[in-house]
Amino acid sequence: MTVKWGLIGASTIARQFVINAIRTQAGGEIAAVMSSSPERATSYARENGIPLAVSTLDDLLGSDVDAVYISTTNELHLEQALAAIKAGKHVLCEKPLALTGADARKMVAAAKAAGIVLGTNHHLRNAGSHRAMRDSIAAGRIGKPIAARVFHSVYLPENLQGWRITRPEAGGGVVLDITVHDADTLRFVFGDDPLEVSAFTQSAGMAAGGLEDGAMCIWRFRSGVIAQSHEGFTTKFAGTGFEVHGSEGSLIAKDVMTQKPIGSVLLRTAQGEEELSFDVRSLRQFHAALRGEGQPSATGEDGVWSLTSAEAALQSAKSGKSVAIDPKLGGAG
Ligand code: NDP
Repeated sequence: MTVKWGLIGASTIARQFVINAIRTQAGGEIAAVMSSSPERATSYARENGIPLAVSTLDDLLGSDVDAVYISTTNELHLEQALAAIKAGKHVLCEKPLALTGADARKMVAAAKAAGIVLGTNHHLRNAGSHRAMRDSIAAGRIGKPIAARVFHSVYLPENLQGWRITRPEAGGGVVLDITVHDADTLRFVFGDDPLEVSAFTQSAGMAAGGLEDGAMCIWRFRSGVIAQSHEGFTTKFAGTGFEVHGSEGSLIAKDVMTQKPIGSVLLRTAQGEEELSFDVRSLRQFHAALRGEGQPSATGEDGVWSLTSAEAALQSAKSGKSVAIDPKLGGAG
């Protein structure tokens, strides 16, 4: 089956990762790109071998694309997704789905009513490392899960030091950028939902306009598991990692909170240490969902959960109190 994709947004992430990921799917074609600037649309299309360059949403949605990938700045996702859904196009939207959980829920509701596939690009779910961790936990290899630590504080590359650190109205800040990923990855790996969060945020010298560039969150899950996550833009040498500790074993993953298919996962139990092996997936599940086979690896509901969780973390940092994450507001359990 051929799937013709339209890119909404001439973005870095599409250029670096998603265009290739689409093209490696059988039948995956990039048919068009939309940028708000006609010149950038044309140069981006030329540089990336895309046949059609447009500068309005109507032109993109009026073309014969089957699906759109939205990777504009965050404040534009809602309106663009609703328009695409209305035009009958399937939607893979970048995280955060919108600026608020309430807006993200509108997207989910509209997609459901229209019979449209809506996915959230929480790519970490596709990483073999996180799948291997999830499978080990589900198979009981660490016994009863007790706690997790997520190390996801990085140095924001200079070419990305734009709206993320200067424009609150565009949905900047490390919580909407990275905490959403951590909330989603924890949900995915445990198969459990966070019900409460307590967070501190900071402005450590990079972000302006009142935006945060560092956050530490403590999460409580439905099962009783507690987790901590550290997100940042300003730490050059921290490295990333993810640890899950259970009654009978621990999973120690290094370099896995990244867009690249790298990293290692060690399982440590009374039997000793074992390096887990894993492979990599990409947009395979989204294409399968378009054929009516299953769902995207992260659905719209998953995007609502991660955004509602991040929103609660921001509220906690502001109020100095822990904040409940309402599962009814956050989507399905
Ligand atoms: P970019 O800053 O590269 O792109 C965002 C928008 O900025 C583009 O849509 C484009 O507008 C405009 N833009 C890009 N380059 C230029 C330029 N040289 N001059 C002027 N304007 C420019 O953002 P990212 O690719 O980093 O992020 C886009 C989205 O993807 C965000 O929602 C982000 O959260 C998400 N993201 C997700 C990741 C993940 O891990 N899943 C990783 C990285 C980003 P126009 O289209 O109008 O030309």
